Parts: sequence; C-alpha cells; structure tokens
Amino acid sequence: MSGFGKVYLIGAGPGDPGLLTLRGKEIIEKADVVVYDRLVSPAILGFCNPKAKMVDVGKMPTHHKVKQSEINKLLVQFAGEFPGGVIARLKGGDPFVFGRGGEEALELVAAGVEFEVVPGITSAISVPAYAGIPVSHRGIATSFHIITGHEKLDERTLASSLQTRDERDVNLSLDFETLAKCPGTLIFLMGIANMDFIAKRLMECGKDPKTPLAFIEKGTTPYQRTVTATLETAGETIIRENVTAPAITIMGGVVELGKSLAWKKNLPLSGKRLVVTRAAKQASGITARLTALGAEVIETPMIETRDVIPAKAGISSADFNSLANFDILAFTSTNGVESFFKQLFTAGFDVRVLAGKKIASVGKITEKKLLEYGIRCDYVPEDHTGEGLGKLLASLNHTPRILLLQGNLADDTLLKLLPKATRWVVYETLPVAELPEWKREAVAVADAVVFASTSAVENFVQVSRLSSLVSRLSFCIGRMTESAARKHGFETVTSDETTMDSLVKKIAEYYAGEGA
Ligand code: SAH
Repeated sequence: MSGFGKVYLIGAGPGDPGLLTLRGKEIIEKADVVVYDRLVSPAILGFCNPKAKMVDVGKMPTHHKVKQSEINKLLVQFAGEFPGGVIARLKGGDPFVFGRGGEEALELVAAGVEFEVVPGITSAISVPAYAGIPVSHRGIATSFHIITGHEKLDERTLASSLQTRDERDVNLSLDFETLAKCPGTLIFLMGIANMDFIAKRLMECGKDPKTPLAFIEKGTTPYQRTVTATLETAGETIIRENVTAPAITIMGGVVELGKSLAWKKNLPLSGKRLVVTRAAKQASGITARLTALGAEVIETPMIETRDVIPAKAGISSADFNSLANFDILAFTSTNGVESFFKQLFTAGFDVRVLAGKKIASVGKITEKKLLEYGIRCDYVPEDHTGEGLGKLLASLNHTPRILLLQGNLADDTLLKLLPKATRWVVYETLPVAELPEWKREAVAVADAVVFASTSAVENFVQVSRLSSLVSRLSFCIGRMTESAARKHGFETVTSDETTMDSLVKKIAEYYAGEGA
C-alpha cells in the first residue's frame, strides 16, 4: 500500500439524489473526506459517512470560492493525511463534463496518488430530459453539442485571440461561425450571464433568429423551472423571467417536443425545502412521503446513538465469557446488533462464542442485520413488536436463560414479560451536540422545520443557532411540541392527529392553501 489514500472523482448527477450512481453512493458512504461543490444537493451530502471530514470548496458565488489550483493541492494533501483512506471528490453532474475533473486527475497522477473516476449523469442531457426535451430526435436533430458559455482564458490568450471589447468582457472564444452552421441541438452550460451575447453572435453568423430555445433552471430538483424563448428573444427573456444559475440553455427543434413531453408534474410540495428533525431510521418514512410530494427534505436527526463503552454498561470484556450462561440472545434493534458485535469483536471474541445459542429478533429489519453477521434467527414474532417477542419467548416450554441486548431507552415491555431475563445495555441514545457546517447552511434557508417532540424542538434550537434561520415556520405533532416551538418563536401548524400520516396531510394542505 502506498502512503496515500485513494481519491475518487465522483459525479453526483444534476441534483435529484436518485440520479447519483450506486458506485458513487457506495464510496461516499465510507469516505474519510468528502470534498464537494456548490451544486451537490444536501440530500446527497446526507448519504456521506457522518464521521467524514466535509470540505466545501464551492461556496455561493458571492462568497470566497476555493481556487481550482488549491482544490487540486487539497486532494493530494488529504490523500497524504489519510493513508489507505478514501477521499471522495464530489462534483455536480459528470466530473469530466466542464467539471475540471481532468485537471484534478492530472495533479493526482503527478503526485503519484491512486484515483478512480466515477462518472455521473451530466446535467447537459438529464436536465433537458426532466423538461421533456430529448437532446436528439429522429428527423429533428441527429447530433447534439455541449458547449461552455463561460470560459476562463488566461490573460495572454485573451489578449491575442479576442479582438473586441465585447468579447473580452464575456471572456469567450467560441467558434460562432461553425456553431451557427451546426444543424444539431446546441446545449450551453454556464451560459446564462453571456447568453445575450452568444445569441447575437449566432444570429450574426446566420443562425435562424426563430430557433426555439429553452432555459432550464435548477433541473431535476424540486425547484426546476423551464422558460422558453427564441434565439432573438433570448436576452430579454432571461431578464424578464429572471433566469438564474444553475441553468442550461438548449437550442434547436427538439425544444418544441417539450410541449408534449414535459412529464414532470408540479407537485403539492414542489419548491419547498423541509427540515425533518427525527432520527434517520424513523425519518425515512416521513422523508419518503414528503419527497414523493415534491419537497426537498433535509434530514437533521436530533439524537444519535453511541456504543456504550463496556465498562460503563457494566460489561467488561470478561463478561463476554458469561455469554456461556445464556441460551437465547434477543435483539430488538439494528443498533443493538451493530453495537453488540462491535464490542464483542473489540474484546477479542468472535461469533464462535454464540455457537449453540438460539437467537431472537423483534422483526424483519433486525433479522436482516443479524444475517449480515452470518446469523439466522430462531425466533421472530409475527407481529414484529416487543410484546410479540416477549410472549413468544415466554411461551417456550423449557425455561431458557435469556439475554436482552438493547439500548438505554428501551422500555420494560420485554423485561416485564420475561422477568428472569438479563438485560445488557449495548448502546445509548444522546442528543446531537452539533450540526455539521453544511447542514447548518442548508437548514438556515429551509422553508420550514418538522418537529415530532419537545426534545427535538429544544435541541434543534440549540444546534441550529436559531438566529440564522430564514423561516420560523414549523409543522408539529402534538400540542406539547407545538407549545415548545411557540416558546422559541416559531409559527406553528399542528397535525390533527398524532401520526405522521396526519402531519404529512397537514403540510400538503398548508401549502395548497398558500398557493390559492
Ligand atoms: N459537470 C457538470 C457541469 C458543471 S458546469 C455536469 O456534467 O452537469 C456547471 C453548469 O452546469 C451550470 O452553470 C449549469 O449550466 C449546468 N448545471 C448543472 N446542474 C444543473 C441543474 N441542476 N440545472 C440546470 N443546469 C445545471
């Protein structure tokens, strides 16, 4: 192994987290460092290993932006700091399509750092697709061309190749003569600021002023918007409609197809960014439902689980020897399974200490987790509840010695039904002490926060540094939660019933009413 970590140049796709590749996700889940750009969505950053060092090199255009040469150096530096580690360089779209991935790769080669490229779905093709515009179409366009509308030339090239002041201003050296003759679809990236100039030059070089054109802003995200124009109205349309970056411009006959093929529906929560403050495992249900309604969800769990250090839990490594005294090991959560095995392995044991024991699990998810450790369950209650598990084990006609492996917050259901059982606390649940920088920034611009408990409100207020929030709207479950949120200056909308279903319904109704 070299003294370096390995760098992965990963394309994150155009925005929709569903368009990240499986390979990309696999790597960011285990990365030690993630170096990411401005266009990478918070939902994708949410997949990253929570312990990873997160480095933002693409602040908003108005803020300081890390120079490309510095980014190149940073990658080499991190590869040196994490020998054998995984460094993910996460870029919008595809890393080699105007992503400067090639420059980064050259620097890595020069430094002798191993790297891999994980292609991404480029915005150039996928963003038109989300607007119902095929980049090629039989009988309309037999080629498509992807062009940068913003090119940084060095000063010398600029002085020698560009004649007019106008051209110098927009920093472009495109071959407009050739582009104007080109019958295929033209797709401009980064071109909004220069589009007025580009359109004029194309017309001067003979391109039909009536050529249809579309600007697609924030494509594939909940904020996607398509604005159509023609070549001659391009500049004025951008100003009138306030088209802003990131947006792509697509020109050619295929744009007309968008009228019939625009398939992406405006959903009830399109364009809304909601913060969900539940623990990730509980949150995924509500996250999926809100996402399906068009919202962008930022999962910001307010609690986290930690393995209990054996001494604290009263389990010294010697106690793993006492596993011999039990006939059945019962698990009630995936956290319990993970923490138990981690501690078992750390103490120098392996799964052979479980030989001959029966294993019980509360439900299917825990059962699946156990299978990852090579263990099949002997007992799983049909109803997948703690009570079901307790009854099942209590009904066994021999009187097995049972060990329950649970978290510190587990209730006493099982112990009550199985009074002779022993319980080991193998993990504990704690309030999150801090939010990573990227999450605080995403939360600050959210439209609303979803609270399901008073403790979530209190903790959120602390870790979000409340004063930076743009919106103080909250959606709450339960009256107690509602009053906690009010106490901290939130406007509240509370669900009729204390269920997630009822809350999701309320959120959709709220925004439907707002639009009316
Ligand atoms: N490597 C990227 C492109 C980087 S250049 C890719 O393959 O997509 C950045 C430009 O890409 C933006 O200025 C914009 O023109 C375009 N772009 C990226 N994401 C976009 C999106 N979601 N919607 C519209 N345009 C996008």
